[in-house]
Amino acid sequence: MVFWRGVVAAGLVCGVVGGARVEAQRLPGGVRPEHYSLMITPDLRAATFTGSETIDVVLERATNAITLNAAEIEFGAVTASVGRERGQQQTQIPFGNDKQNAAVTLDAAKEQATLSFARALPAGPVRLAIEYKGILNDKLRGFYLSKTKLRSYGVTQFEATDARRAFPSFDEPALKATFDVTLVVDQGDTAISNMRAVSDRAGPVAGKHTIGFATTPKMSTYLVAWLVGDFQCREGKADGVPIRACATPDKAGLTKFALESAKWLLHYYDGYFGIKYPMGKLDMVAIPDFEAGAMENFGCITFRETEMLVDEREGSIPAKKEVAETVAHEMAHQWFGDMVTPEWWDNLWLNEGFATWMESKAAAAWHPDWKYDQDVAGDLDDTLDLDAQATTRAVRARAETPAQIDELFDGIAYGKAGAVIGMVENWVGEEVFRKGVHEYLAAHLYGNATAEDFWDAQTKVSVLPVDKVMRSFVEQPGVPLITLGAASGGQLPVTQRRFLLAGAGGDATRVPEVWTVPLCFKGAPCRLVTPETKDVEVSGAGAFIYANVGDKGYYRTNYAAGQLAAIVANAETGLTPAERIGLLGDRWALMRGGEGTVGEFLDLALAVKADPNAEVVDSALDRLETVAKRIATGDDRAWLDAVVRREIAPVYAAMGPPSKHESWERVELRETLFGALGEAGDPAVLAEADSATATLFSGHRPADPTIADAAVALAARKGDATMYDKMLRVAQNASDPDLKADALHLLTRFEEPILVMRTLEYAVSDEVRSQDSWTLIALLLSRRATQDLAWQFVQQHWTEIARKATVSSGARIVEATGAFCSVERRDEVASFFAAHPVTSAERTLAKALNGIDDCIHLRAAQEPELRKWLDAHAQ
Ligand SMILES: [Zn+2]
Repeated sequence: MVFWRGVVAAGLVCGVVGGARVEAQRLPGGVRPEHYSLMITPDLRAATFTGSETIDVVLERATNAITLNAAEIEFGAVTASVGRERGQQQTQIPFGNDKQNAAVTLDAAKEQATLSFARALPAGPVRLAIEYKGILNDKLRGFYLSKTKLRSYGVTQFEATDARRAFPSFDEPALKATFDVTLVVDQGDTAISNMRAVSDRAGPVAGKHTIGFATTPKMSTYLVAWLVGDFQCREGKADGVPIRACATPDKAGLTKFALESAKWLLHYYDGYFGIKYPMGKLDMVAIPDFEAGAMENFGCITFRETEMLVDEREGSIPAKKEVAETVAHEMAHQWFGDMVTPEWWDNLWLNEGFATWMESKAAAAWHPDWKYDQDVAGDLDDTLDLDAQATTRAVRARAETPAQIDELFDGIAYGKAGAVIGMVENWVGEEVFRKGVHEYLAAHLYGNATAEDFWDAQTKVSVLPVDKVMRSFVEQPGVPLITLGAASGGQLPVTQRRFLLAGAGGDATRVPEVWTVPLCFKGAPCRLVTPETKDVEVSGAGAFIYANVGDKGYYRTNYAAGQLAAIVANAETGLTPAERIGLLGDRWALMRGGEGTVGEFLDLALAVKADPNAEVVDSALDRLETVAKRIATGDDRAWLDAVVRREIAPVYAAMGPPSKHESWERVELRETLFGALGEAGDPAVLAEADSATATLFSGHRPADPTIADAAVALAARKGDATMYDKMLRVAQNASDPDLKADALHLLTRFEEPILVMRTLEYAVSDEVRSQDSWTLIALLLSRRATQDLAWQFVQQHWTEIARKATVSSGARIVEATGAFCSVERRDEVASFFAAHPVTSAERTLAKALNGIDDCIHLRAAQEPELRKWLDAHAQ
């Protein structure tokens, strides 16, 4: 699955708002499902469906009761028939006529149903036949309804534990089986599922037709999918595999780019994994209402519209980069996750870490010109900060209930696990690592495996202690800080400890974490630093020593003063852009952790202001803005803004006007500089923003279209109701999903209190999709100018917000409160969510409170330092 990356924060955590706390447990075992046959008849108008299902199971021993998973399912007739001895020529097990009926007992809290039989069923094969009814819900999970202005669609999202809402099942990842899916749909509608359609006949009643799909390979229940509606598809082919990219008819013109990327990627993955894509076809479908970013259903990938649809000709490169990465992520899962699946959710991180690491590797192989390495460096930085909070968790964590499993889908499972995998690949070498991946997959095809299986394969192939390195990063929480002393005789003293951001506090009773880390120097081979290592050999390293080549290591680095000065002096010439991003991240984090001052950081940030790489400048200016918003108060803010204007205006001016064929990166850079100057109150930029916005809303092309988004965001701050209404109309009527999302987000830029209230009311109205509602509220909570009003609203309208919430949106609102920066607000957040608990958001709340403490601490520690720096620089 890919999380909806949204626009708010790095650590995205799933959760469920309100409702009964779900305490479902593991199934008792003793029953092995082998094959499901499902016939599903949805009624899209009534929002219900009926199911007719057989499950062939093998009983380990005789029993009177079989327990499986079911939630919001109404059972009809349930029978069991015992399998007979197989005839010599027969491959199928024949089931006898000695059917017996089951009594069904439901346990709603455990999401389980127990089928009880008067006569014991013998050990061996048994066929269960189940008639049932279910609901097409509006919570974006299980089998649910998605709507456009014209009609409803029936779609599925089963990861992690929601297949049980669509069919009674043994809904655990290790209980793999084969599936035959049949859908009965309206004449004129189509159906898409994991496999290709093999039959399509009229009936069983007038106005319906019945579509049967080929039998799947052995797979987990959470990877089953089916979609019903009038989707339209564009077709292509790669390595002999038919690929389709599908959307609702109004958006069918936006599927070309996703299809082209999938064609390239399928061939790439066939080669990389050394195992051919097995499903006979691949479908990708964009769905109007979708909770996550995308989902890797085997052979049938589903997407949020903005993650798959982009205008081939008009779409921006950043929008295309995101689509390519999302397609690459879900396609990587077809092998890593779908063919070979973790035994249980505690190893979910291996799935998501691998796909997160692979998404940029594969997309970068397709488009080396898109500089994914810089995006990866930026993401790594966010993850390191998240993991330097005292409230972080170890990558591998126990999870038994659906709520606990949901909370595992976070920035640690994706970001940290992906970074650790990237660090290992960089250390052992690309080809050695690829072989290890192949060995692991080949040994467990269509089965399940554990993280140990993965790192044991890598250890064997590389003949390096990959297991020790991965274990130390997976089983312990937090970030190592590697401190290097002054070099002497080609030796560098090295120490390590866990790094925590300011305000995090330590626990003296805890055994301190120590890591086994491959430390990779620029211009020298990697050295393995173990807990016992006292110094490392660095002879052969270049003119200055930089200990994180390519920014691939999952650690923060601190240097002796002289060494740091040499690195900073050589940053623009001796480091790659990704390494510069890493250096900025390290210095910023170390300042927050109490080493160095905000003034030293500002000097470094201004030293890279003219960097030609948009992502480097963005990392620097983003933090300058954070200093302005989180550290500076009163006059300091005005003085800091004046410094920013003085330093950045000449860089922006030097870019000159946009040329006709400007590169995408220059466009990004121009917009970043323009936005920063506008935020700092540059009068010329603000005037340009107003005029560009007026031109745009009068239906014309502004003089400089490359700054359009930033211009509107700036103009909206002082925007009035007339401008707001224009923006709202774009949000309501845009057919391009990206434009629609941008317009929605820009509504949160209006600062006039009446307009802030309008956005809040709009966010909880029926006009905004559940998937977007929380984003608007979270954005308003995250900005200083709007957060007080938004917080008041959240407290007063919690019932409405909770009613509209989906699986994860409640937790994301909790998360957004982490942007506050006062003791008063921290206490309010703590007491409000104590009184209004959000399920699956326990850790999220702790992190939000931790974030507020960090900010309070940062301001207290660095405000005097900022004043000193301003005294010296603000003239
Ligand atoms: Zn994923």
